[in-house]
Amino acid sequence: MRTNEGSVLIAKAIILLASIVMVIIRAPHGRRRRGIALVRSRKGNLEFVLLTFAWLSFFLPLIWIATPLLAPADYSLHPLPLFAGTVCFTAGLWLFHLAHADLGPNWSITLEVLEQHRLVTRGVYRRVRHPMYAALLLYSVGQALVLPNYVAGLSSGVAMVLLVGLRIGPEERMMVEEFGNDYRGYMTATKRLVPGIW
Ligand code: SAH
Repeated sequence: MRTNEGSVLIAKAIILLASIVMVIIRAPHGRRRRGIALVRSRKGNLEFVLLTFAWLSFFLPLIWIATPLLAPADYSLHPLPLFAGTVCFTAGLWLFHLAHADLGPNWSITLEVLEQHRLVTRGVYRRVRHPMYAALLLYSVGQALVLPNYVAGLSSGVAMVLLVGLRIGPEERMMVEEFGNDYRGYMTATKRLVPGIW
């Protein structure tokens, strides 16, 4: 019991830290995005639902940390998943940072073509077409392992699997419309999420 209480305290600190690092990585890109004119948006109802789930999955862990509201769905935490989850969080956040740095002013939270949009194929984008989604999936695995609550722990995984599963197709169609053969060529040279596999 004691060990579990100690592990849960460590888990809460790690989740809080991971959430803060995520905001620190993302915030400057959000600010810069507001200063760039939009050329074309594909933000339909599906995007609205997917983004709502993503926001919910970001706040549920914080609700779990700060309130007892989700306590009925708690289970006990063991050191091994806590350690493995911390590794996934770290790798996910590192990749999240690299993808933002490489995408630069072409980043957007939704499906958009921006003024002076350039196709990025260097850095982590040389290896896969969706490194940011791969990072978010890794982060979600981290959250599922570190956070011992069936609702808050799995929320990010559910939201990200839906986001990635339902967005990659429309996003790639939008990129083909915008960049034509450049994007088609990029598609043949790279995989979506895992280098050499898919
Ligand atoms: N799917 C990518 C990017 C996510 S951000 C990833 O997972 O890393 C979403 C925005 O990035 C989209 O609106 C799209 O306009 C833009 N985008 C996606 N791939 C891009 C690329 N290779 N070069 C430039 N912009 C890209």
